[in-house]
Amino acid sequence: MEENIVWHNHRISRAERAEIKNQKPCLIWFTGLSGSGKSTIANALDVALYQRGYHTFLLDGDNVRHGLNKDLGFSDDERVENIRRIGEVSKLFADAGLIVLSAFISPFTSDRRMVRNLFPAGEFIEVFMNTPLEACEERDPKGLYKKARAGEITHFTGIDAPYELPSHPEVTLDTTQYSVDQCVDKLVSYLRDRKLILECSGAG
Ligand code: ADP
Repeated sequence: MEENIVWHNHRISRAERAEIKNQKPCLIWFTGLSGSGKSTIANALDVALYQRGYHTFLLDGDNVRHGLNKDLGFSDDERVENIRRIGEVSKLFADAGLIVLSAFISPFTSDRRMVRNLFPAGEFIEVFMNTPLEACEERDPKGLYKKARAGEITHFTGIDAPYELPSHPEVTLDTTQYSVDQCVDKLVSYLRDRKLILECSGAG
């Protein structure tokens, strides 16, 4: 089947789509334990970029599992497929010229590498939410650690399933050391320094 499918080159390139938005396409990939602050920081960055006039799209783990990936469970194979689809969807949004923010635990190095390899060098920004397990568990915003400790959830990352530490993340954030605003400032500076966002207009 696949050999009969021909790739069509678009007349407008991804670079051109991004250029009129004053930005470069990229994927900001938040990884870390549940409760480490991925959704909070991704959302806050999304707002900060939107207010400055940039064009973004936020993909959140739970939301994706309600739609695109609702046929997938939590077996090893299904977790890999979950991340693969998210990577491919992120790539499509980036091809549309957007800055894509993705917040998924993504505990395995191989899965994160698979997504990284979908992107040109410099356009995959791995943000490691290096919040200690104790702090995540104390916050327990969704009550999941409590359930995991009680044995009501099994294969819970950090409790009875592994989290493989990123070896070379582009950005590392510990939310016990930095406030939400400080984390966002660091990320905006990173994007600015690498010319992924070109000039700030509007508020902020
Ligand atoms: P994740 O998406 O990684 O599961 P969440 O963003 O849902 O994590 O939860 C993080 C929790 O920690 C939230 O309740 C948030 O309010 C709290 N929190 C406290 N301080 C910070 C901080 N500096 N950065 C991010 N989250 C923080």
